[in-house]
Formats: sequence, C-alpha cells, structure tokens
Amino acid sequence: MVAELMALAGPAPIASPLTELMPAELPVREHVQLKGLWHRYPNAAAEEWTLQGIDLALGQGELVGLLGPSGCGKTTLLRLIAGFERPERGSVCIDGRTVAGPGRWLAPERRGVGMVFQDYALFPHLDAWRNACFGLRRGQDTSRAGWLLELLGLKGLEERYPHELSGGQRQRLALARALAPGPSVVLLDEPFSNLDVEVRLRLRSELPAVLSRCGASGLIVTHDPEEALAICDRVAVLRDGVLHQCARPRQLVQQPATAFVGRFVLQGNLLPATAQGNRIHTPLGDLASSEGALSPGEQPLEVLVSPEAIALLPDGDGEAWVQGREFLGREWLYQVQLGTLKLRLRLPLEAEYGRGQRCQLSLRPGSTGILFPTREPLRVLDAGPA
Ligand code: ATP
Repeated sequence: MVAELMALAGPAPIASPLTELMPAELPVREHVQLKGLWHRYPNAAAEEWTLQGIDLALGQGELVGLLGPSGCGKTTLLRLIAGFERPERGSVCIDGRTVAGPGRWLAPERRGVGMVFQDYALFPHLDAWRNACFGLRRGQDTSRAGWLLELLGLKGLEERYPHELSGGQRQRLALARALAPGPSVVLLDEPFSNLDVEVRLRLRSELPAVLSRCGASGLIVTHDPEEALAICDRVAVLRDGVLHQCARPRQLVQQPATAFVGRFVLQGNLLPATAQGNRIHTPLGDLASSEGALSPGEQPLEVLVSPEAIALLPDGDGEAWVQGREFLGREWLYQVQLGTLKLRLRLPLEAEYGRGQRCQLSLRPGSTGILFPTREPLRVLDAGPA
C-alpha cells in the first residue's frame, strides 16, 4: 500500500512551512468514465474474469458508492482507475483523457487520483503536516494542505505523529493527504470500517461536503448498504465482476434491477413463485400486479418482499421456526427458516419469541413486492399461512 501511495505521489520530497491560507476558488473538474472494462489477474484461468464489461461514469463532484459481496471485484475496480492494474479490454478516462485503454497508458502519479485506504496507510515516521503534504510536488503550494487540515478538524495537530492521533483523526489525515494535491477523483476503499460507530457516522456524514468543497468526485467501496444509501449520490452494485445496477439510492430501493440487488441492498426476501393468470403464488401467500395485467413469461419466478412485509404467528405446529434474532433498539430483526428458505423479518418489540419457536408466516395484506425477472410491481392480496 505504501508503494502504491508512492506511485500516486511520484518521487518529489516535501516542502514544509506551515501555512493556513485558504486556497483560491477550486476549479470545477471533469468526470471519470469507465467503458467496457474487463480484467483478469495473471494467474487466473481463461474464463476467470475479475471484472466483466464494467460501464460506469462519475459526474463532477459526485460521490458514487461501490457495493457488493466479498471478492466481487470492488478493490480491483479502484486499482484499475488508479493505475495499479491494467484492463484487458475497455478504457478508463479521467478529466476527458484516456488513461488506460487500447494503446494508451498513463502512470498512476499522472492520473490526478487520490486514494484513501481502510487502514489509513499513513507514514509513521512523518508528522501530520508532512503526511498531508506527501503527495505535493517539490515547490507546490502547501496552502491547500493547511486548508484541508483545518477543514477536517486537524488544525493544531500538525506536529503529531500518526501514533499520537485517534483512529478518526488518522482517517481524516488520510483524507487530507489524498485531497491535498487537488485530485479530480478520490478512491476510498472501506475508509470507515476500522472506526467505532460514533466516529464512523460523523466522518461519513462529513465526507460528501468535504469532497464537494474540494471539487473532487469520489468512488467509495463499502460493504454496508445502509452506509452507501445514506451518503452517496448514486450506488453501483457489483456481483462476480458484473455491474447489476448503478442508480440513485431511492431508485435502487424502489426499482432494483435484479433480484440480487433487491436481496443484497435492501436485505429483502426472495420467495419462489409461480404464476396463475394474473395471480402470483408464493409459499407465504398470493400477490397480484398493482398496475394491471402481468406478463411473467416462462422463466423461473421470484418475488422480492421486504422484511416488514412478512407477519409471524406463533404456532406449535407451524412449519417455520425462529433461527435467531437481533435487537435493533426499536424493533427485532428475526431470522426464520421455512423449509430451505431463510427469511428476515422486522417485528415490533412486543413480538418477542425465542430461538426454536415454531410459527406460521404470511404476507401482510396490502404490502408490496416485486416480481423477478420482469420487475413488475405486486401487491399482496390476502394472507396465506405457511
Ligand atoms: P472484499 O470486499 O473482500 O475486499 P473485493 O470485492 O474488493 O473483496 P477484490 O479484492 O477486487 O474483491 O478481488 C476480486 C477477486 O480477485 C477475488 O476473487 C480475489 O481473490 C481476486 N484477486 C484479488 N487480487 C488478486 C491478485 N493480486 N492476484 C490474483 N487474484 C486476485
């Protein structure tokens, strides 16, 4: 990681007088564009692609979240943009310049990209000021570093070494260092995952404003859907190297493009389904289109319903049983097993059941669902005990 930072920064040493000048109005920058990106690691089998035809654009000053299960290729995508990996096909454009693509290659330090890592990757032998100035070229104005330290609440700590800073302060310093050279894009790889909840919530809520004041676009990897939906302008969902959807948080929630997006991002339940005329049967009850006639086609069907859409009725003879539960403060999150289905239910605090409790499950009348793969909106008709 240190080697990667050195690569981004280039070879120049640091000029160091402490200044606290506010930089002049920051320039508005162009966006990042990824077109048809395919990538495979050298030791991988012929068909073992890490990324498969990724198309993604970041608008000026936009913060885009990159979500997906472990190993789906999130970090690899950041490494392709930064220039630590080469795409096998496709191109990366930053600020209107092709930095990677057929016959084109720009070294990492010439791409105008900043990086923030999960473990901060600060230089332990440099104080906060020198860390913040690390990416500046010899003789480059340091006022922006001073401004960033102030903006990020680190003023007065310039002479402290990383081990003399708290986790939150270290991550702020890592952000200041990434932004000091004035990059047009900042790539953040799970930057908040080592922080305690309070610091994490504060820092993540500050991030969009900091990026926007710096005129930088951001691409942030997180495995926490709630975090991505909370702070990002758009969220991209990746699975096995394939981009399933990139959309505004509200659209992602209301119109997930695939069953996977619905399950992963919304933590929803996927129920196997069959169509009969205009009715959709599931093991928990029937649904119908909320917009008119259905056209489910011949493919296997699934219905996505939220954890709030399933009701639980305790019943010693019920086929379903409670596997576990989590206390969420204002409600319970239950895991309930029905045959091979593992379901998530959100229930009020009064609904307190122990592990092993047998029960019946049903869809709450009037709640909604989405049919996949056709993405047709559905409405629950009536409850049917499981
Ligand atoms: P996580 O959320 O666990 O960090 P990720 O989505 O960031 O995962 P990547 O780190 O991009 O996933 O890895 C994608 C795939 O590429 C994984 O299967 C991983 O094992 C593989 N991989 C990553 N780095 C290398 C490498 N240097 N050489 C070979 N394979 C690699």
